[in-house]
Amino acid sequence: MSFQLTCPNCGRRSVSEFTCKGEFTPRPLPSADLSDWTDYLYLRQNRRGRQLEWWYHRSGCQSWFLVERDTTDNTQHRSYW
Ligand SMILES: [Zn+2]
Repeated sequence: MSFQLTCPNCGRRSVSEFTCKGEFTPRPLPSADLSDWTDYLYLRQNRRGRQLEWWYHRSGCQSWFLVERDTTDNTQHRSYW
């Protein structure tokens, strides 16, 4: 499936230039217990609908940024650093 994604630096480009690095998950505090760190490292929500994800502009500016994307139709709602 092909769609376009907006890089905050380069603008709108084909998704083939990017790599999705998975959903964004808030990092636990250093004092968090082991189960919080295990959830952070290994569990994913894999939501149906809007989800915040890490993307990497592999064939462009090689920057990391966040994208809010609807997983049902690949609609991009926003992207930012
Ligand atoms: Zn870029």
